[in-house]
Amino acid sequence: MRIGVPREAEHEPRVAVTPDSVKRFTGLGATVAVASGAGERSRIPDAHFAEAGAEIVSSSADALRDADLVLKVERPSGEEIDQIREGAVVVAIMDPYGNDGPLQHMAGRGLVAFAMELMPRITRAQSMDVLSSQANLGGYQAVIDAAEVYDRAIPMMMTAAGTVPAAKAFVMGAGVAGLQAIATARRLGAAVSATDVRPAAKEQVASLGAKFIAVEDDEFKAAETAGGYAKEMSEEYRKKQAELIADHISKQDIVITTALIPGRPAPRLITREMLESMKPGSVVVDLAVERGGNVEGSEPDKVVEVGPVRVIGYRNMPGRIAASASLLYGKNLYTFVESVMVDKETKALSINWEDDIVKATALTRDGKVVHPNFAPAAE
Ligand code: NAD
Repeated sequence: MRIGVPREAEHEPRVAVTPDSVKRFTGLGATVAVASGAGERSRIPDAHFAEAGAEIVSSSADALRDADLVLKVERPSGEEIDQIREGAVVVAIMDPYGNDGPLQHMAGRGLVAFAMELMPRITRAQSMDVLSSQANLGGYQAVIDAAEVYDRAIPMMMTAAGTVPAAKAFVMGAGVAGLQAIATARRLGAAVSATDVRPAAKEQVASLGAKFIAVEDDEFKAAETAGGYAKEMSEEYRKKQAELIADHISKQDIVITTALIPGRPAPRLITREMLESMKPGSVVVDLAVERGGNVEGSEPDKVVEVGPVRVIGYRNMPGRIAASASLLYGKNLYTFVESVMVDKETKALSINWEDDIVKATALTRDGKVVHPNFAPAAE
């Protein structure tokens, strides 16, 4: 089995393998071809990959050309799709929603594509769950970025010259990213509160020592899907939620928003009016900016001033902590490949199509888009 790892695009500092995962793949009998410089922005020099047993090739095209299995962070570009040989397996964060064109392109080229973000939330797949591993780091980094921009101290400081009050931080959406944002803000000494539409979040927020704030009506009690995700809430709920939140937000110094609904635009949680009501120097981080944003006025990859507030909207938050993000992403990929696509006896690439994890993540096969969420309706 030959594995190809190209250099990611300029806007993606992460890399799909690490020296540790290269070592494990070579232990399985694979050859791992890594494009020179692929690990640079995750602080992994070519020499470290080579020491781990990788073959360093001079270009991404060279890494892709003969690969049986291509490992990437981002979905391959059109050019890369054309460079990968027919029948090869490609594993990446594919961003499939609304991207029919690239999916058809991969299918048309005969690639077998897997989307890591479609990993089912079952116990066996936890160690392969890139949404969790990356969102966890994203939640941490959001607080670090907020702290950098915030012009005041976060913890309470009692000094001879007087007392600096603790910053008040509010986390909207207490999933993986939100829970880590709560924990990080607490570690820095902020007084933390949080909200979510899923009842299960209430206990988790409380266990981290933060105050839970939410409209807890009948719709709230039924807001969690079987998969553990949030449903899209009704207009009426969102109105009640906005009323409750409006007053709370005006008293906050730092707000981190992380609310997402799979396959849908992010819910709008903070209006311009709410931003205008905040104190001068407050900071809002919109982790949902890539999916349309939880915050009115947030802009992708920018820090914008809206009234008294600075709104941070970095799209690739895990990429801002690339060395750690690559470490965990590389582990997720290795576990996935080793568990469902390597024959334990022969060590050859062999996909177990009966496995639930394979069924949930497979996007294209035999020239077609096969995932039920993305396959064109049967003619
Ligand atoms: P996510 O990234 O899809 O969304 C982030 C959070 O936003 C969620 O908690 C969601 O409930 C919340 N949200 C959505 N709409 C909202 C609104 N209008 N107002 C406020 N909050 C809103 O979620 P996630 O981080 O991927 O986590 C989703 C669930 O999956 C959680 O229950 C998590 O514990 C669970 N999970 C399970 C596993 C596993 O079992 N293997 C792994 C990871 C996560």
